Amino acid sequence: MSSNGVTAREIVKAWGRILSGYQPNLSIEITKECPLRCPGCYAYGEEHLGADATLRSLSDFKGDELVSRFMALIDRHRPLHVSIVGGEPLVRYRELNVILPRLAERGIRKSCLPQRTTEDSFRTS
Ligand code: SF4
Repeated sequence: MSSNGVTAREIVKAWGRILSGYQPNLSIEITKECPLRCPGCYAYGEEHLGADATLRSLSDFKGDELVSRFMALIDRHRPLHVSIVGGEPLVRYRELNVILPRLAERGIRKSCLPQRTTEDSFRTS
């Protein structure tokens, strides 16, 4: 086992999937909301989403709909690791209280990347 808790078996499994074109990491922006206004914030810029939309032009899903849509993405892409980002992801703490245990049940590693509204880092695995 490596220092970050990943086993050799998991590494071999991941590489096998990567070599067959699979992308093992998934990053999901669960909210566009953020209480901060950091100078240099790129989240709301025109380049961030790389498409015709900006973050401000989109609507957030909330509650059960957010949970079900989030888990549908997990089931479709079957990532080995998921990064939960925003905006400020802990704005959706109620939904995360449902999502995080479901990821744990599936054995999916996850990182929740809150911004400066909380402690410096809050990570789960
Ligand atoms: S915490 Fe992140 S999303 Fe919020 S304003 Fe700062 S850089 Fe932007």
